[in-house]
Amino acid sequence: DPSPSLHLPDESATLAAGERLAGALPSRLTIYLRGDLGAGKTTLTRGLLRGLGFAGKVKSPTYTLVEPYKDSRITVYHFDFYRFTHADEFLEAGLDEYFEGDGIRLVEWPDRAHPYLCAADLEVELQLAADGGRQLALHALSTEGQRCLEKFTA
Ligand code: ADP
Ligand code: MG
Repeated sequence: DPSPSLHLPDESATLAAGERLAGALPSRLTIYLRGDLGAGKTTLTRGLLRGLGFAGKVKSPTYTLVEPYKDSRITVYHFDFYRFTHADEFLEAGLDEYFEGDGIRLVEWPDRAHPYLCAADLEVELQLAADGGRQLALHALSTEGQRCLEKFTA
């Protein structure tokens, strides 16, 4: 099965990778976004939302914990748990409800909501590359995630 890795030389390449991922999504998927601060997790999400046709501004959910994007076709929830000091905050904020039903869920800093957070279908890993760009790796963790990766690489 494919576990694609891509070099992203600049910000526009990260946006393009997100747009490409948008074209491979089913109606329901949970995606963990891994990587240090500044790795490009929010940038990739911006590209994905652009690819789905959301034209407005994409804010980092660092303070709000979740930013929803909805239209008649699809709902995307973008989470960021960077500021959690305890995983309990996930339940206290009622965020478990967002993981029921259809929708695309993108999660930055998923480990900070462990063990309450749902398992991922797909993991996206972003790392700083030696040339100042980024290295992107995608890992499928479910059948749905695998199907998505097959579409992404096709
Ligand atoms: P994170 O959400 O992982 O903390 P952000 O996406 O907010 O990171 O910020 C990443 C920063 O890196 C932004 O300034 C963005 O312009 C830049 N960036 C994104 N992708 C690349 C890339 N492929 N090469 C160089 N810079 C990038
Ligand atoms: Mg971010």
